[in-house]
Amino acid sequence: MPELPEVETVRSDLRPSLTGRRLVGVVATGQRSLRRLGGPGPLVEATLGATVRGVDRHGKYLLVRLDRPEVLVVHLGMSGQLRLVDPSAAEIPHTHVRWRLDNGSELCFVDPRTFGEVFVAHSGPGASRLPVELAHLGPDALDGIGGPASLARRLEGHRRRIKPVLLDQRVVAGIGNIYADEILWASRIAPDRPAGGLSPGELRRLRVALRSVLLAAIEHRGSSIADRQYRDLSGAVGGHQLHHQAYGREGLACGRCGEPIRRVREYGRSTFSCPRCQR
Ligand SMILES: [Zn+2]
Repeated sequence: MPELPEVETVRSDLRPSLTGRRLVGVVATGQRSLRRLGGPGPLVEATLGATVRGVDRHGKYLLVRLDRPEVLVVHLGMSGQLRLVDPSAAEIPHTHVRWRLDNGSELCFVDPRTFGEVFVAHSGPGASRLPVELAHLGPDALDGIGGPASLARRLEGHRRRIKPVLLDQRVVAGIGNIYADEILWASRIAPDRPAGGLSPGELRRLRVALRSVLLAAIEHRGSSIADRQYRDLSGAVGGHQLHHQAYGREGLACGRCGEPIRRVREYGRSTFSCPRCQR
């Protein structure tokens, strides 16, 4: 599914295209994409006629700020896309919501597998103005984590293994299966280590890797892999899949030590790691 780097790529493209634009039409047909709202009514009411003030992100959630108390929240789920299109072009299959902008273009929410969703929330307190509907999320994996000591506090006491803890959006928001594997490879930490048992040196490496892996992936406009359908606003794929060091590289030589990368399948998910240099 799209993770933090993919959602950040969409956000940074969306911000200049959307900020200051008025939403002059809303067509919402995807019942499943609107499941939290119970139908299109509340979405139309909250967004029709609104002007966009900015586009933020927390973890994997996009937050479209409006000139109203409501915030338009988009979660891409497994296969969701936001696409900016010319309305005279043929509709993209699996389009569930369309907003007409006052400059004539259209913003479309497209989602073949319908695990994504669109809903309306309310700005919360504090500088982040994180909606109360998202208050269960941990700090953003890129912007919200302090130094190694603060990361250590978030991990301490966890007897669970580090990989599922990194995937737990309540601990840290934005990391999914691809970047968890990439971050642990870069940190030289084995994915089955207990999260609460990392040494100060390992925590420092993890903190550095979190930031450097996510920033490199953003630089390459995210990862698009075969069975998942991440596309940017214009429908283009990302390029970071060409730079993966662990994810999807089963049997290929580790870029650090040459040992073949190992794949372990568990709970319907694969973990890729180097059995030699990740300890
Ligand atoms: Zn290795």
